[in-house]
Amino acid sequence: MAETPYFVSYPEALRILKLYPISLPTEFKPLDDAFNRILSVDLESKVDDPRFDNSSMDGFAFRYEDSTSPPTQLQIHQTIQAGSNTLAKPLGTGQAARIMTGAPIPEGADAILPIEKCEIDLKKSTVLLLEEGKKHFIRKQGENLRKGHTHLHRGTLLTPATVGLCATMGYPEVPVYTQAKIGIISTGDELKFPGDELGENDIYESNSFGISGLVKHCGHHAKRYDSVIDSIDALREKLNQAAQECDLILTSGGVSMGEWDLVRKLMEEEGDIKFWRVKIRPGSPPLFGYWKGTPLFGLPGNPASSHVVFRMLVAPYLRNSTSGGGVQERKIRVQLTESLKADDHFLILRRIKIDMSGDQPLAYSTGYQGSGNLNSLVLADGLTLLEPGHTGEKGTWCEALLL
Ligand code: AMP
Ligand code: MG
Repeated sequence: MAETPYFVSYPEALRILKLYPISLPTEFKPLDDAFNRILSVDLESKVDDPRFDNSSMDGFAFRYEDSTSPPTQLQIHQTIQAGSNTLAKPLGTGQAARIMTGAPIPEGADAILPIEKCEIDLKKSTVLLLEEGKKHFIRKQGENLRKGHTHLHRGTLLTPATVGLCATMGYPEVPVYTQAKIGIISTGDELKFPGDELGENDIYESNSFGISGLVKHCGHHAKRYDSVIDSIDALREKLNQAAQECDLILTSGGVSMGEWDLVRKLMEEEGDIKFWRVKIRPGSPPLFGYWKGTPLFGLPGNPASSHVVFRMLVAPYLRNSTSGGGVQERKIRVQLTESLKADDHFLILRRIKIDMSGDQPLAYSTGYQGSGNLNSLVLADGLTLLEPGHTGEKGTWCEALLL
């Protein structure tokens, strides 16, 4: 281990991870299948949005100067419906056009009054405007999107809103990265499949299920393997299989200093470790390296730690691989409502509940923070990013990662 970076700072771990991205080919997906996939190019709009000046209200369009001393009576000289093929006629002084939401503004008009503020006289074909016209009810061509401009960037994880935007920009299908196939292997003699009969010292295996959800959350494909007992041979065999079948391997358990921490041992002896141990708490044991040419994260076994380490190391690694660093996680500044134990050397990741109901976002600890206590994560909607040297005192501020 002499030359392997050991017990690195969090920024150093991220720096090393950036050196070893996975590369994924592109495929095209119709919009119906694009949700939760990752864009593989910068996407330019094929159209302006709005495509033309249009009304944001059902009402009347007219010249603003005609409406400045209400009530004003104007002659109704046309009706304009959204999507109708008849061209709007130019509109002169004293004239108004009945207009529907989304319909094009006729030449000459520069204000709208919603129908509720208008009285129509059908016999005389006139409208009485009860107030001044409103210019802001005209949606201007290109005010949302400009044709030829990039509005979604490579590496964007497609949400419901961004899928909608792809459609608005004119794409029936979008180029996305193929999902990375990510193998998940839990290790430990004590682990039993949930619901199976438990021996006296056994526990239910939970990490692979939680990590599988995290992988899918990142837009990739999770392949969960049965857990492996603490045997070098069994572990080697499983890693060989996963290295054949997957783009990335995530193990859980067996990466600490103990005699039975076989992932670490095997990686030391037969793998290629790029770093081992990171100054974050919880979750200091992880390692990153290669097994038979396939990148591998050794995550800690403690359930809360493995989850936190995924968010802190694996998720940024995946994001960086597909965005080149352009896409960041969402963070928020929060004020601590109680003192938290900070550290001079470690980045401290407390599980917190964030109260947004007041003027300032307030952070509350979710209670007992043992690294085996998954419930502390269930209750959390954030992780503090208490930098090394932060006092952690009640009333101070820090950044937090939104979970
Ligand atoms: P290890 O890192 O292998 O020493 O495991 C640390 C702790 O996490 C031990 O208490 C294990 O029993 C527990 N643990 C390890 N792997 C899992 C798992 N997949 N699901 C639930 N608990 C686990
Ligand atoms: Mg173990």
